[in-house]
Amino acid sequence: MVKMQAAFVEQFGQPLVRRETEVPTAGPGQILVKVEACGVCHTDLHAAKGDWPVKPALPFTPGHEAIGIVVALGEGVTAVSEGERVGVPWLYSACGHCEYCLSAWETVCAEAQFGGYTRNGGFAEYVIADPNYVAHIPGGLSAQEAAPLICAGVTTYKGIKETGAKPGDWLAVSGAGGLGHLAIQYGKAMGLRVCAIDIDDGKLAHATRLGADAIVNAKTGDPAATVRTVTGGGAHGVLITAASLVAFNQGVAMTRKHGTCVLVGLPPGEFPVPLFDVVANCITIRGSFVGTRKDMVEALAFAADGKVKADIELQPLSAINTVFERLERGDVPSRVVLNFTSAV
Ligand SMILES: [Zn+2]
Ligand SMILES: [Zn+2]
Repeated sequence: MVKMQAAFVEQFGQPLVRRETEVPTAGPGQILVKVEACGVCHTDLHAAKGDWPVKPALPFTPGHEAIGIVVALGEGVTAVSEGERVGVPWLYSACGHCEYCLSAWETVCAEAQFGGYTRNGGFAEYVIADPNYVAHIPGGLSAQEAAPLICAGVTTYKGIKETGAKPGDWLAVSGAGGLGHLAIQYGKAMGLRVCAIDIDDGKLAHATRLGADAIVNAKTGDPAATVRTVTGGGAHGVLITAASLVAFNQGVAMTRKHGTCVLVGLPPGEFPVPLFDVVANCITIRGSFVGTRKDMVEALAFAADGKVKADIELQPLSAINTVFERLERGDVPSRVVLNFTSAV
């Protein structure tokens, strides 16, 4: 049997265990991917801690931003070829025939499987994938560059689409970190005017370098009022990437009349909706969760055209527990990508 290194969650809330295990075999309808790089997302931390009501079965390997090369095809696979570079995303597979799948909303399919959660993910040298749901990585994009785009990238891109903002409109991006720095670039690439909001001057300076037309420090004054002034009445689309309830409330107050505030951050808890403002100003508040396969193609195309680039920090698989500790402390300025192309 051929062996590989993989990191496992053996108990919730405990450090991951890195050990040798058998390379899995691609069954009928599956493919085997040799992982080149895998991004580390906050969701992986929630998975490893068992934070959510539906928990993964133990032990499991997290990671839903894996990019690699197809090295084996299971019986009957024709959708991808050996040697192709693919991504194995959070939306690992879906049923393909429910009302949501039929209307290209496979992200909310009740039978969806999730990479690194209900299926073993990419914190391993090899991963099994469903060829009908992998991301196809365009030429010119390295595995390391592509990794954060198949979760953080598609999530922010889809979220912006869901605001309904049109070229020339204002997009307010609340939170200029791991998701926000991508949202700013997608917003600009989509022809929007972008106002970035954060509490960190360093991140705001970076937002300006990435093309933001305006920046607002949410620590000073009333950030929603400032955004309304800057944008002449509020942003047509607001994207809340910050995992903070305060940001949720401010986001609604930043939304222009008849505008849409989209939530992609996931802080625990509930937030009060200012009903009078929402009703009287005809504001839409909308949740958005990752993206469909079509969104993935579009999100990657912007990157392949050089219009969107994730800030990445490369680490070996052996550093995963340190990376998790840093994520927990909020001490990860860019997206960490586990790099498998050197020794792990
Ligand atoms: Zn993710
Ligand atoms: Zn379905």
